[in-house]
Amino acid sequence: MNVTRRQFFRVCAAGLGGSSIAMMGFSPTAALAEVRTFKLARATETRNTCPYCSVSCGLLIYSTGDKSKNSQAEIIHIEGDPDNPVNRGSLCPKGAGLRDMVQSPNRLKWPEVREAGSTEWKKISWNEAIDRITKHMKADRDANFMTQNKDGVTVNRWPTTGFLASSAACNEAGYLSVKVLRSLGMTTLDTQARI
Ligand code: SF4
Repeated sequence: MNVTRRQFFRVCAAGLGGSSIAMMGFSPTAALAEVRTFKLARATETRNTCPYCSVSCGLLIYSTGDKSKNSQAEIIHIEGDPDNPVNRGSLCPKGAGLRDMVQSPNRLKWPEVREAGSTEWKKISWNEAIDRITKHMKADRDANFMTQNKDGVTVNRWPTTGFLASSAACNEAGYLSVKVLRSLGMTTLDTQARI
């Protein structure tokens, strides 16, 4: 390997700097661990699941503040949960950037509706959203439920409305979702795992 005089001095300076720091009792690894400890010392740790895909990696979410008048709760750090058997502390780039998604000004935090003929989205309450969804579902099912196919075979299906559930939900929630939707005759249900 050819090393120029300039490269030689640069390597020597870096090595000398590193060994001097180590001789002063600072290990770079230990120093990084210390910084992390200080940063998270007063934070609240909350376990959660990454919402992006069906892998459902475990997360540790660190936040400061509380709901008192004097402070505002804020997430300051998110990392993989080393105790979670799914990901053992690792996260893919999407999961590693989760804090940006959580704190994005573009994140939708409430239901919105765009009325027929309108170009504007309007904020509505969760109760109103659930009422409206229920009414739309009932009207569509009443209009399109099929008891038999064209050959006279009993099918009892509702093919005109689909349901997108969460792939990060627990087994019990998934089981209940499928039971309720199939009992209504819905044939199209999926999760974001395939998106
Ligand atoms: S961290 Fe990546 S792999 Fe894990 S659930 Fe999130 S998106 Fe999926």
